[in-house]
Amino acid sequence: MEINATIGGCAVSDLVQAFGTPFYCYDAGKVRENARRIRESFQKAWPDTAVFYAIKANPHPRLVSLITADGIGADCAAPLEVLIAERAANPRERRMYTGNYESRDDFVAAARCGAINLDDIGALERLPVGYDGILSFRINPGTGRGSHPGIVTGGPDAKFGIPLEAAPDAYRRAYERGFRRFGIHLMAGSNNREAAFFAAMTRFLCDAAATAILPLEVKPLYLDIGGGFGIPYRDEEAPLDLAKTAFLVAQEMRAFGARSGLEKLTLRIEPGRAIVGDAGYLVTRVTAVKEGTRRFVGLDAGMNTLLRPALYGAFHRAEVVGKEHPIGPAALCGRLCENTDIFVNDIPFPAVAEGDIVVFRDCGAYCATKAF
Ligand code: PLP
Repeated sequence: MEINATIGGCAVSDLVQAFGTPFYCYDAGKVRENARRIRESFQKAWPDTAVFYAIKANPHPRLVSLITADGIGADCAAPLEVLIAERAANPRERRMYTGNYESRDDFVAAARCGAINLDDIGALERLPVGYDGILSFRINPGTGRGSHPGIVTGGPDAKFGIPLEAAPDAYRRAYERGFRRFGIHLMAGSNNREAAFFAAMTRFLCDAAATAILPLEVKPLYLDIGGGFGIPYRDEEAPLDLAKTAFLVAQEMRAFGARSGLEKLTLRIEPGRAIVGDAGYLVTRVTAVKEGTRRFVGLDAGMNTLLRPALYGAFHRAEVVGKEHPIGPAALCGRLCENTDIFVNDIPFPAVAEGDIVVFRDCGAYCATKAF
């Protein structure tokens, strides 16, 4: 494993001196490169692909500006995210809103976006009068997948979306209220690294559009397969093959075009983790080492800084600046009075002492966002 002596060309020791610890930092070059790669992979396979960055993955305003400067829109899930997208100068048609259980006030902010993906039929009642953007429903595909149960967002246990059987009624009711510009949406889970999964979800969504929207004699303006594009968190994990994913998704779109006559459909995707995940680092310092039932390495960051391990058992690789060779297993933990405040229980780790700098990798997505 490579030692993180530099991040984005900056020496970690300089950063520590400037900011103290703990802190999150991001490699802007990596963020830009990830955003470019996902956009180009999809647009090569399906030219009419619109990418909307899922701000919830990391709403840092500088990151949102960086990502959306290059033709990528913003998918917002809260009023504050709409504000961040606006401040990053995203025009309305490049802002989309995908929330759940929104209040009427939430929808006032959502209406500043050019499209809203509704999570429920009842949400129609809470939309502000005069909303004139594109309307879409999030369909629960009846199945979901994610790298941890806590990030599976489709299937019987998920709180998101409406079942396919309810979709025709949902669109009919929206039609009766005067809406004519429709999209259709799903998001079945996060951190998936199998291309075939995205193809299966696209096929489902195409069929859902045929069932729910085409009977109204209205053409859907977009099919939105959400995000969920995974990244490896462990050395032995293979990355998602983006080119293959895009190819398989485009194949489904073409097949649907041939079946339905709708050959000019826009594909929307909402990547979050795939853009920022591997570009973020959490830099911490060793506060104490204890030889107890095992070797405990205490850090000045805890589950209040990086929640994913305690929340759903997520794993983040950790490296010690300047120390490469493991001497045996260690448990890395924070200083909260909770026994769940353990990042990892048993990883091969070098000999460390108070003051050593420990860097957690792949902390760009869903990390800082749970720490404030
Ligand atoms: N879109 C929606 C509706 C989501 O709920 C999420 C994450 O949960 C995303 C996009 C981004 O997912 P990911 O970061 O896995 O790409």
